Amino acid sequence: MTERVLSFEEALAEVLRHAGGVAAPRAVERVGLNEADDRVLATIVRATRDQPPFDRSTRDGYALRAADVRDKLRLVGSLKAGEMWQGKPLGQGEAIEIMTGAPLPAGADAVVMVEHTAVASGVLTVEAGRTLRAGENVVARGAEARVGDSLLPVGRVMGAAEVAVAASCGCVELAVFARPRVAIVATGDELVELPIASYPTHADDKAVVMDGPPGESQIYNSNSYALAALVRGEGGEAVRLAIARDTLEDLRARIAEARGAELVLLSGGVSMGKFDLVEQVLREAGAEFYFTGAMIQPGKPVVFGRLASGPFFFGLPGNPVSTQVCFHLFVAPLLRALAGRSSVAPDFVEARLAEDVRGGAKVTRFLPAEMKSAWDGVTVRVVGWQGSGDVAANARGNCYCALPAGAETLVKGETVRVLLR
Ligand code: AMP
Ligand code: MG
Repeated sequence: MTERVLSFEEALAEVLRHAGGVAAPRAVERVGLNEADDRVLATIVRATRDQPPFDRSTRDGYALRAADVRDKLRLVGSLKAGEMWQGKPLGQGEAIEIMTGAPLPAGADAVVMVEHTAVASGVLTVEAGRTLRAGENVVARGAEARVGDSLLPVGRVMGAAEVAVAASCGCVELAVFARPRVAIVATGDELVELPIASYPTHADDKAVVMDGPPGESQIYNSNSYALAALVRGEGGEAVRLAIARDTLEDLRARIAEARGAELVLLSGGVSMGKFDLVEQVLREAGAEFYFTGAMIQPGKPVVFGRLASGPFFFGLPGNPVSTQVCFHLFVAPLLRALAGRSSVAPDFVEARLAEDVRGGAKVTRFLPAEMKSAWDGVTVRVVGWQGSGDVAANARGNCYCALPAGAETLVKGETVRVLLR
């Protein structure tokens, strides 16, 4: 068996290379604007009219000619948002009361804020010393966008800002990419399934689905559920298959079932143990391996590849923190690409260490950590843990603090990279 263990940077580059080669998903569906959150746009959203569609007052005040600001001005009318000025174009020495969002009347070229004025018997005066330039407190028609301009590109994830743009263009429905199907297979003889049906329902589910607590040597399968949540969070459709026992037969059956998906995530069975058979079964199935390990901790045994004329797969180390770290580092970028997103790289930020951290590892480490993002800065503190099986410690953190391979002890106040989750 030829092993291909890469540095963290090489492994990430390999994933990003494959993510970059993923063609846009073919399947497109239409969803209502209210159901569009987190979906990925399959067509450009264009401005359906100039924005703003008229010269818009940005203040409550008085529309006038900027050059007249020093004169005593005659008030000739009042204009609310939603109304067009129907009177004669505004002449020299005239002003019209105007509200925020109302179209500037013809003849006016600026708006003076109500706070800077006084009105007595229909005569407006602007506070002494106040100047006004043409265009002040007005956004000209088309200054934000011209009709036909591209406002949202293909591949953009719909968030509140994007929904506002679509609504402002009158989009009732949007074309979005279908969610990629991701098959999730947990492996291990020690695992006990929760009494939640998997898909498809297997005859042997009866044997593994149990209501009572696990036996003394057993543990609940938590990875399938964590992975399903992570997959949904990245825009995928999670298809949880039944647990594969640590037998060639069971693994073969599950991999055969998973073939119809666009991505297969296996957890467990990729380390050096006697019953770690996942790689062997993948090879048998004609898999091509892009890497069979990465110099990271947790997560070193992670494998990435593709089944012959089939889906991409990741073999994720079974320890729950390893599984999740590898998801954020490697699975998320590929899944984002399969979902049609244009921005796929894992999310890193910089933060200052709130406490010293002991370094010295030969691998790049991603330690569960708690990040505080405050107005006066972003700090991060590594949480105490019992290693990569410690789901509780992982949940006490909210991110992973990255320690570069070979780094010596890092001291409080130093800047480190943080992997967001
Ligand atoms: P493995 O990668 O199969 O050697 O498993 C490493 C560790 O992760 C072992 O302690 C397993 O019991 C644990 N583990 C494996 N799969 C899961 C799972 N689906 N849920 C929770 N723990 C798991
Ligand atoms: Mg195992």
